[in-house]
Amino acid sequence: MSQPLPATGDAPLRVRQASLWQTRATLYVLYADGAIRRTGFTSANAGRHLRLGAIIELALPRHAAPPVRLLWHVEGALNRRGVVIGPTLIDRDAAAAADMTMAALYAAFAGMCLALLVYNLALWAALRQAFQPAYCLMVLCLLGYAFTSSGLLGQITGIDNNDRQRINYVLLAGSAAAALVFARAFFERRVFDGWLRPYSSAVIAFVLLAAAAYAGLTPRFAAITDLISTSSYLFVITLLAPILIRAYRRRSNYLWVFGLAWGAPVVLGSVRILAAFNVFAWQLWIDNSTLLAMALEAALSSLGVAYRIRLLSLERDAAREQEIAARLLAATDPLTGLLNRRAFLDGAIGREDAHQLILVDIDHFKRINETIGHDGGDEVLRLIARSLRAAATPEALVARIGGEEFALLVRADTPLDARAVLDRLRMERMPFDLVVTASIGTCTGTLRRETDWKALYRCADRALFAAKAAGRDRVRHGAPLAQVA
Ligand code: GH3
Ligand code: MG
Ligand code: MG
Repeated sequence: MSQPLPATGDAPLRVRQASLWQTRATLYVLYADGAIRRTGFTSANAGRHLRLGAIIELALPRHAAPPVRLLWHVEGALNRRGVVIGPTLIDRDAAAAADMTMAALYAAFAGMCLALLVYNLALWAALRQAFQPAYCLMVLCLLGYAFTSSGLLGQITGIDNNDRQRINYVLLAGSAAAALVFARAFFERRVFDGWLRPYSSAVIAFVLLAAAAYAGLTPRFAAITDLISTSSYLFVITLLAPILIRAYRRRSNYLWVFGLAWGAPVVLGSVRILAAFNVFAWQLWIDNSTLLAMALEAALSSLGVAYRIRLLSLERDAAREQEIAARLLAATDPLTGLLNRRAFLDGAIGREDAHQLILVDIDHFKRINETIGHDGGDEVLRLIARSLRAAATPEALVARIGGEEFALLVRADTPLDARAVLDRLRMERMPFDLVVTASIGTCTGTLRRETDWKALYRCADRALFAAKAAGRDRVRHGAPLAQVA
């Protein structure tokens, strides 16, 4: 029974109260003239009286005299959180204003959820990160939970109000389980190593089973199933400390993002659990704190996802750099830095137009090695390579294709003067002022296919042999073969 009601104006009054598990509630209204009228609802028709935020609103029956007292008669209450919770007397304007506030809150939340779903699914297509589908599942559960726990489901479908609460429990448990799956996928593997992985699996199973038990069994064993399902959320919260400590100890990259995004949901979730254990009195904002906290989480976790994308792109850039370095390494001759034989052939074969091939072979290199040692010989190779690179145009392919044999390839319409190349080599200052000369054979032809290349090479090699035979330190031009079609 209420206290004596305060005197109010003539505006028709309504009584609001939190929606709870009950099969029937009858509200008796005592008026100043001694008359008693009644109104009420059952779980089956509660949908008609549900307002956003899962508030049951009853209009007081009209009567000539003002109402002075209220008496509730409730049947089939679970009695866990109370029988009549948060009753308030409210006039039509205030009720409309309260409805608008709740509508704005739920609309914002639903919009955020939809945006997050689209955003994460789209990103998942590109990034294929395991935490993304878990996150989407969590958002879906929360969206469903917002739809049922707001009372909207009851308003729209007229579903039995107690059944609506069964669905509530399942969807909230689904959200919590998905949040844990998300956390496991979000952190690096090392954070959940060891006992934490099976323990978190057990908590996930516990949360889901407890909700299923509540949904399936209530009102039988209601005290037990309600206690179990409320306790299961305590276990969710207890998981948090080891996760955070491990993430810190094992230097997770994502700890601060996680802490920032999930701080509010965790704190408000804890408050809600304590309220469920009657540590705090019921308040509307506590019932809706999950939504407020998740809205905040959603906004912040978008930042988290952006941060992860940034880390991924840094990783990708590093991998790309490594790949380029590896490809360069595979393509170059380590001693001279010129192209190696394979890279030279890769770059040469398949070219459309006619090209000039210049083969350079150092004269009596064996003797040079014998005179100044192998290291000195290497130095000579490096100097010759540098000189060849400088003598060629930037577009020319310059390669070391054998021990002391080099090749240059340029387009035939901009040929190199082989004699000038040779002059340049002669001018290079060598170790111990050694005189180092080379012989050159050139030839011009196409190299569309491998056979073209072989013909061109044979032609230039023959010219090189001719230069050697003629006394070395000179250039010979090969006659292009007529067979080149
Ligand atoms: P020719 O004038 O007929 O070309 O005489 P050559 O001595 O230059 O010709 P040959 O092909 O007989 O000898 C090539 C020598 O080059 C043999 C080998 O020891 C040496 N050589 C091959 N690769 C390297 C290398 O990487 N470093 C050094 N220092 N010597 C090398
Ligand atoms: Mg040789
Ligand atoms: Mg030689």
